[in-house]
Amino acid sequence: MTAMRPQPRPGVLDIEAYVPGKSKAPGVAKVFKLSSNETPLGPSPRAIAAYRSWADHLEDYPDGSASDLREAIGRAFGLDPDRIVCGAGSDDLLHLLAHAYLVDGDEAIHTTHGFLIYPIVTLGAGAKPVVAPEKNYTADVDAILAAVTEKTRIVFLANPNNPTGTCLSFDEVKRLHRGLPGNVLLVLDAAYADYVRRNDYEAGIELVATSDNVVMCRTFSKIHGLAALRLGWMFGPAPIVDAINRIRGPFNVTGPAIAAGVAAIEDIEHQERSREHNTRWLNWLTEEIGKLGLEVTPSVANFVLIHFPETKGRSAKDADAFLTARGLILRQTTAYKLPNALRMTVGTEEANRLVVAALRDFLAKPA
Ligand SMILES: *Cc1c(COP(=O)(O)O)cnc(C)c1O
Repeated sequence: MTAMRPQPRPGVLDIEAYVPGKSKAPGVAKVFKLSSNETPLGPSPRAIAAYRSWADHLEDYPDGSASDLREAIGRAFGLDPDRIVCGAGSDDLLHLLAHAYLVDGDEAIHTTHGFLIYPIVTLGAGAKPVVAPEKNYTADVDAILAAVTEKTRIVFLANPNNPTGTCLSFDEVKRLHRGLPGNVLLVLDAAYADYVRRNDYEAGIELVATSDNVVMCRTFSKIHGLAALRLGWMFGPAPIVDAINRIRGPFNVTGPAIAAGVAAIEDIEHQERSREHNTRWLNWLTEEIGKLGLEVTPSVANFVLIHFPETKGRSAKDADAFLTARGLILRQTTAYKLPNALRMTVGTEEANRLVVAALRDFLAKPA
């Protein structure tokens, strides 16, 4: 019997609440948090200054349309600011897209090891998440297209994907788009686009500009180092931008976040420094961890996925406990259907060297 109490819509209680990366290692003096893909370089000093200057007028509502920020993003990427919507992190925008474009019984596709937020926003909108298998820890265009039914309304693609670090080439994304019916929205989540060095990659700007059913989401949480402020943006076709603007919170982005975001996007040098640091240490970690005999999925983002054997004493879980005891916090990926792996964010030189040394010790100790 259903108790006489308010009931959430069907689907809500099927959601496995998102569990963020750990941030504590009890009893350890110095902790290196490498579990949430935050930047080791921090934000631009100009972004910090802009944020601080807002402290003098916290009584004022922010500009609900975030015009300054949309214009700054427009200048940085050569985009029409009217086709941009800002959100409280890109999570906010993913929720809004799901709520605007899914109804009960619809289907939304994501890939096996796709970002965990996609099934959450899909179930939250009363729709059904459909999983398309991957190949080599990489999204598979044919498998996604094969999963499309009459009920499909959204395809979520993280490109590059978290937690695998793999990406699809622009040609593959275009092939995916060509194979989708016009009434299916393709959401390109390009949270890590700023780190990609492959020249066959395109974040989504060109596809959005030339079609009616593609949006691209970006974030200030990663290369810009503003995760605490919750700031993201979306570039999309005018009718989709219009729909999202109707349902978003009228002040969904805070004043300090807008100010810091403008300063961050204009500090090209800081972004370049962050990118250089990442490229250098991403390559180093992939090589050094590989030399230890552990498989590392080649990544184009700011993290690596490290695979462990299932052997007792050598498993991902054992490694996690060993590293945590040294204050090195990586991300368990069991919720991403990768129980034998850990995801490590590229950290400072000190943190990167400590992790490699710790993994060496872990593998050398008796199992
Ligand atoms: C980190 C991340 C985001 C960004 O989320 P925010 O809400 O903007 O902090 C989006 N998509 C993926 C795949 C991510 O890993």
